[in-house]
Amino acid sequence: MRNSPVGLGSILVVEDERAIAETLLYALRSEGFRAEHVDLGSEALLRHETAPFDLVVLDVGLPDMSGFDVLRSLHGRIRPGEVAVPVLFLTARGEEIDRVLGLELGADDYVVKPFSPREVAARVRAILRRGTLRPQRPEVPTDPWHRQPESHRIVYHGTLLDLTRYEYRLLDLLVSHPGRVFGRDQIMAMVWGDALDTSDRTIDAHIKTLRAKLRAVCPDADPIRTYRGIGYALES
Ligand code: CA
Repeated sequence: MRNSPVGLGSILVVEDERAIAETLLYALRSEGFRAEHVDLGSEALLRHETAPFDLVVLDVGLPDMSGFDVLRSLHGRIRPGEVAVPVLFLTARGEEIDRVLGLELGADDYVVKPFSPREVAARVRAILRRGTLRPQRPEVPTDPWHRQPESHRIVYHGTLLDLTRYEYRLLDLLVSHPGRVFGRDQIMAMVWGDALDTSDRTIDAHIKTLRAKLRAVCPDADPIRTYRGIGYALES
């Protein structure tokens, strides 16, 4: 068992971009974690070997070695009976393959840059809460939706959706209120409030293209529900 003498746990942030590292340290510390930072993968291995951390936040693109190599080394050093240190990967946009590789390697979670530091802190907390009860192979998070309101993006089952402006607004409205049924009038006001020439058909057409885009990512799911004569909702 790893021990965490003070606070919620000790976190090592491995990130070569200073600004990102600093915002992460700030967010983690204000959540009550003890957080430290190194720039290089080799430093991370050394530090963890000397005094093990409870969790490692690991950038994939490091100057001296890749985050994946760091993870392999971390896991390669486990002695029988020890639990692998949980790892949360930080990946750059478009590193989908890297992401999958990361999860196959045994990472516990990942976030795509740019991310909100508070979200990272929340995920760190969630991973540590799972603690030693977590299965050998990490489960992919069950919530398929990952909203990134700052950058107007939505990730669905790990895939960044390519959305037009109104598709984004419409989907974001539904995703941010799962289970709530929005009438066409409400959708019209909240999504197309600034547009001049729209009708119910506009909404239906956008729902149709959204469904096609979601189906392309996950063919078996149809998360947008139609309530005849009323409107639409995201399944909760
Ligand atoms: Ca980097």
